[in-house]
Amino acid sequence: MNQLQMVDLKGQYQRLKPQIDAAMQAVVDSTAFINGPQVKEFSQHLAQYLQANHVIPCANGTDALQIALMALDLPAGGEVIVPAFNYVATAEVIALLGLKPVFVDVLPDTFCLDPDRVRAAITDKTVAIMPVHLFGQCAPMEEIMDLAIAQELFVIEDNAQAIGAEYIDAEGGTSFAGTIGHVGTTSFFPSKNLGCMGDGGAIFTQDEELAVVLQQIANHGQHKKYHYSRVGVNSRLDTLQAALLDVKLQHLDDFILRRQKAAMNYDSAFVEVEGIKIPTLAPYSSHVFHQYTVQVSAGKRDALKAHLQEQGIPSMVYYPVPLHLHDAYAYLGYQAGDFPVAEGLCHTVLSLPMHTELTQEQQQYIANAVIEFLRK
Ligand SMILES: *Cc1c(COP(=O)(O)O)cnc(C)c1O
Repeated sequence: MNQLQMVDLKGQYQRLKPQIDAAMQAVVDSTAFINGPQVKEFSQHLAQYLQANHVIPCANGTDALQIALMALDLPAGGEVIVPAFNYVATAEVIALLGLKPVFVDVLPDTFCLDPDRVRAAITDKTVAIMPVHLFGQCAPMEEIMDLAIAQELFVIEDNAQAIGAEYIDAEGGTSFAGTIGHVGTTSFFPSKNLGCMGDGGAIFTQDEELAVVLQQIANHGQHKKYHYSRVGVNSRLDTLQAALLDVKLQHLDDFILRRQKAAMNYDSAFVEVEGIKIPTLAPYSSHVFHQYTVQVSAGKRDALKAHLQEQGIPSMVYYPVPLHLHDAYAYLGYQAGDFPVAEGLCHTVLSLPMHTELTQEQQQYIANAVIEFLRK
Protein backbone atom coordinates (compact mmCIF):
# COMPACT_ATOMS: atom_id res chain seq x y z
CA MET A 1 0.00 0.00 0.00
CA ASN A 2 1.32 3.47 -0.91
CA GLN A 3 2.15 5.93 1.83
CA LEU A 4 -1.03 7.65 2.98
CA GLN A 5 -1.42 11.37 2.37
CA MET A 6 -4.11 13.95 3.06
CA VAL A 7 -4.01 14.78 -0.67
CA ASP A 8 -2.23 12.66 -3.28
CA LEU A 9 -1.13 15.25 -5.83
CA LYS A 10 1.55 12.96 -7.22
CA GLY A 11 -0.85 10.10 -7.90
CA GLN A 12 -3.29 12.38 -9.69
CA TYR A 13 -0.52 13.91 -11.80
CA GLN A 14 0.82 10.48 -12.78
CA ARG A 15 -2.65 9.43 -13.89
CA LEU A 16 -3.18 12.54 -16.05
CA LYS A 17 0.47 13.12 -16.99
CA PRO A 18 0.30 12.81 -20.81
CA GLN A 19 -2.49 15.39 -21.13
CA ILE A 20 -1.05 17.76 -18.55
CA ASP A 21 2.49 17.61 -19.89
CA ALA A 22 1.34 18.27 -23.45
CA ALA A 23 -0.72 21.30 -22.39
CA MET A 24 2.08 22.78 -20.32
CA GLN A 25 4.80 22.06 -22.88
CA ALA A 26 2.76 23.96 -25.47
CA VAL A 27 2.92 27.04 -23.24
CA VAL A 28 6.65 26.63 -22.70
CA ASP A 29 7.15 26.33 -26.45
CA SER A 30 5.05 29.43 -27.10
CA THR A 31 6.73 31.45 -24.29
CA ALA A 32 3.43 33.33 -23.84
CA PHE A 33 3.76 33.01 -20.07
CA ILE A 34 1.57 35.97 -19.20
CA ASN A 35 -1.93 36.35 -20.70
CA GLY A 36 -1.40 33.62 -23.27
CA PRO A 37 -4.53 32.40 -25.10
CA GLN A 38 -4.97 29.56 -22.60
CA VAL A 39 -5.93 32.05 -19.88
CA LYS A 40 -8.97 33.23 -21.81
CA GLU A 41 -9.82 29.71 -22.97
CA PHE A 42 -9.77 28.33 -19.47
CA SER A 43 -11.82 31.26 -18.14
CA GLN A 44 -14.42 30.68 -20.84
CA HIS A 45 -14.57 26.96 -20.17
CA LEU A 46 -14.93 27.54 -16.44
CA ALA A 47 -17.70 30.08 -17.12
CA GLN A 48 -19.51 27.47 -19.24
CA TYR A 49 -19.04 24.81 -16.59
CA LEU A 50 -20.37 27.01 -13.79
CA GLN A 51 -23.04 28.70 -15.93
CA ALA A 52 -21.50 31.98 -14.87
CA ASN A 53 -21.71 34.91 -17.27
CA HIS A 54 -18.22 36.12 -16.38
CA VAL A 55 -15.09 34.50 -14.98
CA ILE A 56 -12.13 36.74 -14.18
CA PRO A 57 -8.92 34.81 -13.49
CA CYS A 58 -6.47 36.10 -10.87
CA ALA A 59 -3.39 35.12 -8.89
CA ASN A 60 -4.91 33.28 -5.92
CA GLY A 61 -8.08 32.84 -3.90
CA THR A 62 -7.23 35.54 -1.39
CA ASP A 63 -6.68 38.10 -4.16
CA ALA A 64 -10.01 37.01 -5.63
CA LEU A 65 -11.73 37.93 -2.35
CA GLN A 66 -9.87 41.22 -2.11
CA ILE A 67 -10.65 42.23 -5.69
CA ALA A 68 -14.31 41.29 -5.17
CA LEU A 69 -14.55 43.57 -2.13
CA MET A 70 -12.67 46.40 -3.88
CA ALA A 71 -15.05 46.24 -6.84
CA LEU A 72 -18.08 46.82 -4.63
CA ASP A 73 -16.81 50.23 -3.42
CA LEU A 74 -17.89 49.64 0.16
CA PRO A 75 -17.75 52.58 2.58
CA ALA A 76 -14.81 52.60 5.03
CA GLY A 77 -15.74 51.02 8.34
CA GLY A 78 -18.63 49.10 6.80
CA GLU A 79 -19.36 45.81 8.51
CA VAL A 80 -18.92 42.56 6.63
CA ILE A 81 -20.35 39.37 8.08
CA VAL A 82 -18.19 36.22 7.97
CA PRO A 83 -18.35 32.84 9.69
CA ALA A 84 -16.24 32.45 12.84
CA PHE A 85 -15.34 28.86 11.94
CA ASN A 86 -13.38 29.48 8.81
CA TYR A 87 -10.11 29.91 6.97
CA VAL A 88 -8.59 33.34 7.58
CA ALA A 89 -8.68 34.80 4.04
CA THR A 90 -12.14 36.42 4.14
CA ALA A 91 -11.58 38.18 7.48
CA GLU A 92 -8.11 39.21 6.41
CA VAL A 93 -9.15 41.02 3.23
CA ILE A 94 -12.06 42.71 5.00
CA ALA A 95 -9.65 44.08 7.62
CA LEU A 96 -7.02 45.02 5.03
CA LEU A 97 -9.50 47.16 3.11
CA GLY A 98 -10.49 49.17 6.18
CA LEU A 99 -13.78 47.34 6.61
CA LYS A 100 -14.84 45.61 9.81
CA PRO A 101 -15.11 41.83 10.04
CA VAL A 102 -18.21 40.81 11.98
CA PHE A 103 -18.04 37.19 13.00
CA VAL A 104 -21.14 35.02 13.18
CA ASP A 105 -21.57 31.50 14.49
CA VAL A 106 -22.10 28.52 12.19
CA LEU A 107 -24.54 25.63 11.87
CA PRO A 108 -23.43 22.70 14.03
CA ASP A 109 -24.01 20.05 11.34
CA THR A 110 -22.76 21.66 8.15
CA PHE A 111 -20.31 24.22 9.61
CA CYS A 112 -21.51 27.06 7.35
CA LEU A 113 -23.02 30.45 8.27
CA ASP A 114 -26.14 30.21 10.41
CA PRO A 115 -28.74 32.49 8.73
CA ASP A 116 -30.51 33.22 12.04
CA ARG A 117 -27.24 34.48 13.50
CA VAL A 118 -26.59 36.49 10.37
CA ARG A 119 -29.97 38.18 10.76
CA ALA A 120 -29.18 39.02 14.37
CA ALA A 121 -25.78 40.46 13.43
CA ILE A 122 -27.03 42.88 10.78
CA THR A 123 -26.80 46.55 11.84
CA ASP A 124 -27.19 49.82 9.95
CA LYS A 125 -23.44 49.62 9.23
CA THR A 126 -23.60 46.18 7.60
CA VAL A 127 -22.62 46.33 3.93
CA ALA A 128 -21.97 42.73 2.90
CA ILE A 129 -22.17 39.05 3.83
CA MET A 130 -19.42 36.60 2.88
CA PRO A 131 -20.68 33.03 3.16
CA VAL A 132 -17.97 30.38 2.89
CA HIS A 133 -18.95 27.05 1.33
CA LEU A 134 -16.89 25.09 3.79
CA PHE A 135 -15.40 21.64 3.15
CA GLY A 136 -17.32 21.19 -0.13
CA GLN A 137 -20.89 22.02 0.74
CA CYS A 138 -22.97 25.15 0.12
CA ALA A 139 -24.00 27.54 2.86
CA PRO A 140 -27.80 28.02 3.05
CA MET A 141 -27.80 30.55 0.23
CA GLU A 142 -31.52 31.19 -0.19
CA GLU A 143 -31.91 32.39 3.38
CA ILE A 144 -28.73 34.44 3.10
CA MET A 145 -29.83 35.99 -0.22
CA ASP A 146 -33.28 36.79 1.20
CA LEU A 147 -31.66 38.67 4.08
CA ALA A 148 -29.23 40.42 1.74
CA ILE A 149 -31.92 41.51 -0.69
CA ALA A 150 -34.20 42.76 2.09
CA GLN A 151 -31.37 44.81 3.64
CA GLU A 152 -29.64 45.76 0.36
CA LEU A 153 -26.38 44.02 1.23
CA PHE A 154 -23.82 42.53 -1.13
CA VAL A 155 -23.10 38.80 -1.00
CA ILE A 156 -19.64 37.52 -1.86
CA GLU A 157 -19.39 33.74 -1.85
CA ASP A 158 -16.02 32.25 -0.93
CA ASN A 159 -16.10 29.11 -3.03
CA ALA A 160 -12.46 28.06 -2.62
CA GLN A 161 -13.55 24.71 -1.18
CA ALA A 162 -16.68 23.86 -3.12
CA ILE A 163 -16.12 24.34 -6.83
CA GLY A 164 -18.67 22.20 -8.67
CA ALA A 165 -21.00 21.91 -5.68
CA GLU A 166 -24.61 22.64 -6.58
CA TYR A 167 -27.08 24.58 -4.51
CA ILE A 168 -30.61 23.18 -4.64
CA ASP A 169 -33.31 25.82 -4.16
CA ALA A 170 -36.79 25.37 -2.70
CA GLU A 171 -38.25 24.73 -6.18
CA GLY A 172 -35.65 22.05 -6.88
CA GLY A 173 -33.66 24.22 -9.29
CA THR A 174 -29.88 24.08 -9.04
CA SER A 175 -27.09 26.66 -9.33
CA PHE A 176 -23.39 26.20 -8.90
CA ALA A 177 -21.80 27.42 -5.71
CA GLY A 178 -20.20 30.78 -6.32
CA THR A 179 -22.76 31.96 -8.90
CA ILE A 180 -25.61 32.89 -6.57
CA GLY A 181 -24.36 36.00 -4.78
CA HIS A 182 -23.22 39.24 -6.42
CA VAL A 183 -19.70 37.84 -6.70
CA GLY A 184 -18.15 34.43 -6.13
CA THR A 185 -14.48 33.57 -5.74
CA THR A 186 -12.35 30.48 -5.84
CA SER A 187 -8.78 29.27 -5.36
CA PHE A 188 -6.73 26.88 -7.47
CA PHE A 189 -4.24 26.19 -4.67
CA PRO A 190 -2.79 22.73 -5.42
CA SER A 191 -4.81 20.86 -2.79
CA LYS A 192 -8.18 22.38 -3.75
CA ASN A 193 -10.64 20.26 -5.71
CA LEU A 194 -9.54 22.03 -8.91
CA GLY A 195 -5.91 22.70 -8.10
CA CYS A 196 -3.02 23.95 -10.22
CA MET A 197 0.77 23.60 -9.83
CA GLY A 198 1.22 26.79 -7.86
CA ASP A 199 -1.13 29.63 -7.02
CA GLY A 200 -4.22 30.62 -8.92
CA GLY A 201 -7.71 31.97 -8.38
CA ALA A 202 -10.82 33.26 -10.10
CA ILE A 203 -13.79 35.54 -9.59
CA PHE A 204 -17.29 34.86 -10.94
CA THR A 205 -20.21 37.16 -11.51
CA GLN A 206 -23.42 37.23 -13.50
CA ASP A 207 -23.30 41.05 -13.66
CA GLU A 208 -21.66 42.53 -16.73
CA GLU A 209 -20.85 45.95 -15.24
CA LEU A 210 -19.30 44.38 -12.18
CA ALA A 211 -17.28 42.04 -14.41
CA VAL A 212 -15.70 45.02 -16.15
CA VAL A 213 -14.74 46.60 -12.82
CA LEU A 214 -13.36 43.30 -11.46
CA GLN A 215 -11.27 42.82 -14.59
CA GLN A 216 -9.89 46.36 -14.34
CA ILE A 217 -9.02 46.08 -10.67
CA ALA A 218 -7.16 42.80 -11.23
CA ASN A 219 -5.12 44.63 -13.89
CA HIS A 220 -3.86 47.73 -12.02
CA GLY A 221 -7.19 49.52 -12.38
CA GLN A 222 -6.47 49.91 -16.05
CA HIS A 223 -9.31 50.43 -18.57
CA LYS A 224 -7.03 51.06 -21.55
CA LYS A 225 -3.34 50.32 -21.83
CA TYR A 226 -1.51 52.77 -19.52
CA HIS A 227 -4.77 54.52 -18.55
CA TYR A 228 -5.94 53.92 -14.99
CA SER A 229 -9.48 54.67 -13.87
CA ARG A 230 -9.12 53.37 -10.28
CA VAL A 231 -6.61 51.96 -7.84
CA GLY A 232 -6.09 48.33 -8.67
CA VAL A 233 -3.75 45.44 -8.01
CA ASN A 234 -1.59 43.17 -10.13
CA SER A 235 -3.23 39.76 -9.96
CA ARG A 236 -2.88 37.36 -12.87
CA LEU A 237 -3.31 33.66 -13.49
CA ASP A 238 -0.15 32.37 -15.25
CA THR A 239 -0.64 30.86 -18.69
CA LEU A 240 1.03 27.63 -17.51
CA GLN A 241 -1.49 27.30 -14.70
CA ALA A 242 -4.39 28.12 -17.00
CA ALA A 243 -3.29 25.45 -19.51
CA LEU A 244 -3.06 22.86 -16.75
CA LEU A 245 -6.38 23.92 -15.23
CA ASP A 246 -8.09 23.65 -18.60
CA VAL A 247 -7.05 19.99 -18.72
CA LYS A 248 -8.10 19.37 -15.14
CA LEU A 249 -11.46 21.10 -15.61
CA GLN A 250 -12.39 18.33 -18.05
CA HIS A 251 -11.87 15.91 -15.17
CA LEU A 252 -13.62 17.94 -12.48
CA ASP A 253 -16.82 15.89 -12.56
CA ASP A 254 -14.77 12.71 -12.27
CA PHE A 255 -12.74 14.21 -9.41
CA ILE A 256 -15.99 15.03 -7.61
CA LEU A 257 -17.37 11.52 -8.17
CA ARG A 258 -14.17 9.96 -6.84
CA ARG A 259 -14.36 12.12 -3.72
CA GLN A 260 -18.04 11.32 -3.22
CA LYS A 261 -17.34 7.62 -3.58
CA ALA A 262 -14.53 7.83 -1.03
CA ALA A 263 -16.86 9.69 1.33
CA MET A 264 -19.47 6.94 0.95
CA ASN A 265 -16.84 4.33 1.80
CA TYR A 266 -15.91 6.20 4.97
CA ASP A 267 -19.58 6.77 5.81
CA SER A 268 -20.44 3.10 5.58
CA ALA A 269 -17.43 2.15 7.70
CA PHE A 270 -18.33 4.66 10.45
CA VAL A 271 -22.10 4.89 10.39
CA GLU A 272 -22.65 2.25 13.09
CA VAL A 273 -19.62 3.22 15.16
CA GLU A 274 -20.17 5.04 18.40
CA GLY A 275 -18.18 8.16 19.21
CA ILE A 276 -17.82 9.45 15.66
CA LYS A 277 -20.17 11.68 13.69
CA ILE A 278 -19.95 11.43 9.91
CA PRO A 279 -20.49 14.52 7.71
CA THR A 280 -24.08 15.73 7.52
CA LEU A 281 -25.49 16.28 4.04
CA ALA A 282 -27.54 19.45 3.77
CA PRO A 283 -30.79 18.94 1.82
CA TYR A 284 -30.05 22.11 -0.16
CA SER A 285 -26.60 21.21 -1.48
CA SER A 286 -24.54 18.55 -3.15
CA HIS A 287 -21.25 17.82 -1.37
CA VAL A 288 -17.97 17.77 -3.28
CA PHE A 289 -15.93 16.71 -0.22
CA HIS A 290 -13.02 19.07 -0.30
CA GLN A 291 -12.60 17.64 3.18
CA TYR A 292 -14.10 14.59 4.82
CA THR A 293 -14.53 15.97 8.30
CA VAL A 294 -15.82 13.86 11.16
CA GLN A 295 -16.61 14.94 14.70
CA VAL A 296 -15.18 13.00 17.61
CA SER A 297 -16.39 13.50 21.16
CA ALA A 298 -14.44 16.32 22.79
CA GLY A 299 -11.36 15.14 24.69
CA LYS A 300 -10.77 12.20 22.33
CA ARG A 301 -10.00 14.03 19.10
CA ASP A 302 -6.33 14.77 19.73
CA ALA A 303 -5.67 11.25 21.02
CA LEU A 304 -7.30 9.81 17.90
CA LYS A 305 -5.14 12.05 15.72
CA ALA A 306 -2.01 10.84 17.57
CA HIS A 307 -3.14 7.20 17.25
CA LEU A 308 -3.62 7.62 13.50
CA GLN A 309 -0.22 9.27 13.19
CA GLU A 310 1.36 6.20 14.83
CA GLN A 311 -0.26 4.03 12.15
CA GLY A 312 1.12 6.24 9.39
CA ILE A 313 -2.23 7.93 8.78
CA PRO A 314 -2.24 11.73 8.42
CA SER A 315 -5.23 13.73 9.60
CA MET A 316 -5.78 17.45 10.03
CA VAL A 317 -7.69 19.77 12.30
CA TYR A 318 -9.45 22.34 10.11
CA TYR A 319 -9.63 24.60 12.09
CA PRO A 320 -8.01 24.52 15.54
CA VAL A 321 -8.97 28.07 16.59
CA PRO A 322 -12.04 30.11 15.55
CA LEU A 323 -11.24 33.40 13.85
CA HIS A 324 -12.41 35.64 16.71
CA LEU A 325 -9.86 34.16 19.12
CA HIS A 326 -6.73 34.89 17.08
CA ASP A 327 -4.45 37.71 18.23
CA ALA A 328 -4.76 39.38 14.82
CA TYR A 329 -8.48 39.96 15.43
CA ALA A 330 -8.33 40.69 19.16
CA TYR A 331 -8.84 44.39 18.34
CA LEU A 332 -12.42 43.57 17.44
CA GLY A 333 -13.11 42.79 21.10
CA TYR A 334 -14.59 39.30 20.87
CA GLN A 335 -14.18 36.81 23.72
CA ALA A 336 -14.18 33.09 24.29
CA GLY A 337 -17.79 32.00 24.60
CA ASP A 338 -19.08 34.42 21.94
CA PHE A 339 -19.53 31.69 19.31
CA PRO A 340 -20.13 28.38 21.10
CA VAL A 341 -20.72 26.28 17.98
CA ALA A 342 -17.52 27.44 16.26
CA GLU A 343 -15.53 27.08 19.46
CA GLY A 344 -16.91 23.58 20.08
CA LEU A 345 -16.13 22.44 16.53
CA CYS A 346 -12.51 23.46 16.96
CA HIS A 347 -12.27 20.77 19.66
CA THR A 348 -14.16 18.00 17.85
CA VAL A 349 -13.47 18.16 14.10
CA LEU A 350 -10.97 15.93 12.36
CA SER A 351 -10.41 15.73 8.62
CA LEU A 352 -9.29 12.38 7.21
CA PRO A 353 -7.33 11.78 4.00
CA MET A 354 -9.58 12.78 1.08
CA HIS A 355 -8.52 12.99 -2.55
CA THR A 356 -9.15 11.57 -5.99
CA GLU A 357 -6.69 8.68 -5.75
CA LEU A 358 -7.79 6.96 -2.51
CA THR A 359 -8.08 3.19 -2.84
CA GLN A 360 -10.55 1.00 -0.98
CA GLU A 361 -7.61 -0.76 0.64
CA GLN A 362 -6.28 2.56 1.97
CA GLN A 363 -9.70 3.58 3.20
CA GLN A 364 -10.23 0.25 4.92
CA TYR A 365 -6.90 0.65 6.69
CA ILE A 366 -7.78 4.19 7.79
CA ALA A 367 -11.28 3.21 8.92
CA ASN A 368 -9.97 0.20 10.86
CA ALA A 369 -7.47 2.39 12.69
CA VAL A 370 -10.18 4.91 13.61
CA ILE A 371 -12.58 2.20 14.77
CA GLU A 372 -9.90 0.35 16.73
CA PHE A 373 -9.13 3.54 18.66
CA LEU A 374 -12.79 4.37 19.35
CA ARG A 375 -13.56 0.85 20.62
CA LYS A 376 -10.64 0.87 23.08
C1 LIG B 1 -7.80 28.16 0.18
C2 LIG B 1 -8.82 29.12 0.65
C3 LIG B 1 -8.73 30.50 0.39
C4 LIG B 1 -7.52 31.17 -0.18
O1 LIG B 1 -6.99 30.69 -1.32
P1 LIG B 1 -5.47 31.01 -1.74
O2 LIG B 1 -5.45 30.63 -3.16
O3 LIG B 1 -4.60 30.17 -0.88
O4 LIG B 1 -5.23 32.47 -1.53
C5 LIG B 1 -9.77 31.31 0.77
N1 LIG B 1 -10.84 30.81 1.41
C6 LIG B 1 -10.96 29.51 1.70
C7 LIG B 1 -12.18 29.03 2.39
C8 LIG B 1 -9.95 28.62 1.35
O5 LIG B 1 -10.08 27.32 1.65
